[in-house]
Amino acid sequence: MIAYLENQPGRSPLITGDSYCGQEDSSACDLEAFGSDFGGMVVSIPAAVIRPTTTDEVTAAVRLARANNLALAARGCGHSIHGQAGAAGGLVLDMRALSGPIGLEQGPEGPLAVVPAGATWEEVLRWAVEEHGMAPPSWTDYLGLSVGGTLSNGGVSGQAFRHGPQVANVARLEVVTGDGESFLCSSVSDEADLFFAVLGGLGQFGIITRAWIPLQPAPDMVKWIRVVYNDFARYVSDAESLVSRTEPDLFEYVEGFAFVNSDDPNNGYGLIPLDPTRKPFDPTYVPLGSGPILYCLELALHCGRGDDKFDQRTAEMLRSLGYVKGLEFSAHVPYVDFLLRLKQTEAEARANGSWHAPHPWLNIFVSSCDIIDFDREIFCKILRRGVGGPMLVYPLRRSKWDERMSVAVPAGEIFYLVALLRSARPPPIGPSAEEMMAENRAVVDRCRSAGYDFKLYLPHYRDQAQWSAHFGEKGWRRFVDRKNRYDPAAILSPGQLIFSPGALPHLR
Ligand SMILES: Cc1cc2nc3c(=O)[nH]c(=O)nc-3n(C[C@H](O)[C@H](O)[C@H](O)COP(=O)(O)OP(=O)(O)OC[C@H]3O[C@@H](n4cnc5c(N)ncnc54)[C@H](O)[C@@H]3O)c2cc1C
Repeated sequence: MIAYLENQPGRSPLITGDSYCGQEDSSACDLEAFGSDFGGMVVSIPAAVIRPTTTDEVTAAVRLARANNLALAARGCGHSIHGQAGAAGGLVLDMRALSGPIGLEQGPEGPLAVVPAGATWEEVLRWAVEEHGMAPPSWTDYLGLSVGGTLSNGGVSGQAFRHGPQVANVARLEVVTGDGESFLCSSVSDEADLFFAVLGGLGQFGIITRAWIPLQPAPDMVKWIRVVYNDFARYVSDAESLVSRTEPDLFEYVEGFAFVNSDDPNNGYGLIPLDPTRKPFDPTYVPLGSGPILYCLELALHCGRGDDKFDQRTAEMLRSLGYVKGLEFSAHVPYVDFLLRLKQTEAEARANGSWHAPHPWLNIFVSSCDIIDFDREIFCKILRRGVGGPMLVYPLRRSKWDERMSVAVPAGEIFYLVALLRSARPPPIGPSAEEMMAENRAVVDRCRSAGYDFKLYLPHYRDQAQWSAHFGEKGWRRFVDRKNRYDPAAILSPGQLIFSPGALPHLR
């Protein structure tokens, strides 16, 4: 069937096991590449990979899958951890084929980038800043992620406390549902429910083919600051006060992470300095009696090139914070360099092999009311030796997330993203991926047994009972209703392990 369709004029270009690259052996390899992801722990080899370059080709691919009872997954950059962008024995849509060109449109409330969903956020950034002097307000830390991929999850970084996550920064979407119908939708259109369903919808309701993303003027430069705390309660109080203030001219970016109080090269002091040659970390400033874990608040302020009051303004803003004086680090960098700050980390990880090692990551949203206990019981006990890198912990605000979106967040107004970004280098360098996964389970078990108000971010569960608990009774009912409406044969994104094809639950 696939080989037959391959040569049909007007059909999607199909890559199969025997035609990809035109080389006998490389085809299987490439199918394998599309059968794994950044997590490196799940293998789900597809029957074929399709590279759609237009929305019509996406529509045709979905209809083909539907007609042949094949599962189908859109794959952006494959930066999932647990095989979420895979389709074992089914079709994978390589959305990177649908990545350009990006267009500019004038919306009723300002300029919009019209972005093909397979474009990466780095491509959006470079296009917006270099060609138009503008930028979207909300980012992820790492920009080698596809627009469709992060909009199917959330998309958070240090700007989200103010501007909301990326899913809250979309004016309109073009979506191909599991029926193979394409729709334009927005929060005020007839298809508003589809719009909200796909935002954080884990690829379950449709394939996002284009997104209209609001733009704002891009600053020239960023003052990038890190300050260190030895007292988590003080860290939390400062971080929450910064994300709760609404005056303009405040920090545009608030993030932070926990790290180990030691000179361990992967977990300790070396993670902090922004320019170690100018100012290295001096451990003599760490107060005696500090615990096993320290905390780094990371801030950024936008500025113009000739803003000479800038340092003074920053100093005033830092004065009220209760960090350990002497442990402050700063750099003045171009805006684009700030947003692309993880490129250097990526290059190093590629060079030392850890980019291609398994990544047993865990991302959790934990309510502010439980974060002090989380620190005491989890950072300072279970994770006191670190995870081989920074352990992100920074506040977000629930009021910036629209409840009509599919994504589930905790009940409290302020909740923290806690991200354990591990990479498993083979022993004896570090613990194995299995040991790391076991530690992740211990973390989640503790959150459950302590009754924390928490949700997994980038969730992964093995059965529907767990998914239903994740969304809560009302949320799960809505999720199932939406699945029945937009993908009734349950062919989309099977790697999320939420629904099996043809076996949708019907709730009364
Ligand atoms: C190095 C790294 C850094 C990261 N940093 C951040 C961060 O700072 N903030 C943050 O929020 N997240 C971050 N993430 C997580 C990231 O947002 C998600 O893993 C996201 O899904 C990655 O996008 P992707 O294009 O690789 O998606 P994929 O892994 O390709 O797909 C993810 C899911 O979305 C579905 N999907 C993909 N494209 C579409 C589409 N067009 N329409 C419908 N469904 C689609 C897939 O089927 C799959 O179910 C990071 C991940 C990595 C590996």
